Amino acid sequence: MDIMVIGGGVMGMTCAWQLAKNGADVALFDEGKLGRQASAAALGALWPSSMLRPGPLQRLHMQSLWSYPAFIEALVNDAQMPVEYARRGKLEIIKTERQLTNSIAEAQHACEAWPPLTSEPGQPYCTAATMEVLDVAAARALEPAIDVGTFGVQVCNRSAQVQVSQLLAALAAACRRAGVKVFEDRRLEKIEVAAGGLRVDCGGGRYEPGKVLLCGGNGIPMISPELASLAPIKPVKGQALLLATDRPIISHIIKNGAVFLVPWHDGRILVGSTTEPDAGFDTSNTAQGIEFLTAGAIATCPPLAQARIESIWAGLRPTGPHHQPLMGPLAEMPGVYVCAGHYKVGIGMAPMAGQLMVNWLMNQKVPEDAMEFIPRPAARG
Ligand SMILES: Cc1cc2nc3c(=O)[nH]c(=O)nc-3n(C[C@H](O)[C@H](O)[C@H](O)COP(=O)(O)OP(=O)(O)OC[C@H]3O[C@@H](n4cnc5c(N)ncnc54)[C@H](O)[C@@H]3O)c2cc1C
Repeated sequence: MDIMVIGGGVMGMTCAWQLAKNGADVALFDEGKLGRQASAAALGALWPSSMLRPGPLQRLHMQSLWSYPAFIEALVNDAQMPVEYARRGKLEIIKTERQLTNSIAEAQHACEAWPPLTSEPGQPYCTAATMEVLDVAAARALEPAIDVGTFGVQVCNRSAQVQVSQLLAALAAACRRAGVKVFEDRRLEKIEVAAGGLRVDCGGGRYEPGKVLLCGGNGIPMISPELASLAPIKPVKGQALLLATDRPIISHIIKNGAVFLVPWHDGRILVGSTTEPDAGFDTSNTAQGIEFLTAGAIATCPPLAQARIESIWAGLRPTGPHHQPLMGPLAEMPGVYVCAGHYKVGIGMAPMAGQLMVNWLMNQKVPEDAMEFIPRPAARG
């Protein structure tokens, strides 16, 4: 086996599929079933982060989002399964004068810098501005069920959404069809870096792979104290819920402060999400968390007071130091690589992370921006 991928969330499955497509002999191990941890909790919202906070992560994330339609097209083709992706745009409610000024600057910047909307395969021809700021009357006309407040809204027509359960099922199928050997219920227990190569204890078996790629999310620090220090990934809990209405009442993703609504064409609306960094590994739903989400959803879209609650859940976002992911080789453990800690954007970052890990593990040129995310112990900076 050339490469042993540990962890079958969105990261591990995307990397395993991409590595196998590039000719590597890949095995994928998960301590449970594929796609059941953080990835299963995600809402599938794909919006670019603010143009006013540029940096390597923002640039890589944006490129990842721009490549999403092609990624989905390849995935559907390889998996022979449907994955619903829709670029419906995001409408963000502006709450202050200052936010209004920033929203206008951001929209001008986005219209100049982002590729035109017409370039995506599979999406309807679209002549709308990439990003624009609408006054209250125009915002009401666009989304009549939303309480748009007094400052208007910013509309990002580049934002999209993906059906996460379909995405995860298709990634699992694409891995198998690309020849990845998949092992569920096999926990990675130990990695030894010996003179002759790597020795890995996993699920009762011993393996000697050429390389190991750790995509185990929150489980990585539990493998050994050394990995806890080299890849200090921490969980940040998020609660979410699914509402259902008899017919669709909104057509964009709506963001109102910390609460956001992701509508699907059948009237279902995903509502996210709390951010609870001190909750440890607790995945319970709390009265306060659900109250925060339902109150936020109703304040944003008053008709949702009558919506049925279909389900509630919580997940643990694997989060790297300073909310930045770790992607690259571990200098202290030659042959071992990490791809984890993508916090709130793991679904959106998957195409880029898969590409970067192919670059790293198959000795291809790695873009300059990716150097920022090589795991470095805190002492080395
Ligand atoms: C409520 C919520 C909403 C979200 N919404 C969005 C969104 O709208 N858009 C977006 O882009 N992102 C979103 N996210 C973030 C996204 O879900 C994560 O960033 C992403 O799923 C992380 O993927 P992962 O593969 O790194 O981790 P995981 O999905 O947690 O996968 C890690 C896997 O490793 C396995 N594992 C762990 N330890 C071991 C071991 N020792 N041996 C073998 N296997 C092991 C686990 O079983 C697991 O399957 C959301 C997250 C939450 C919680």
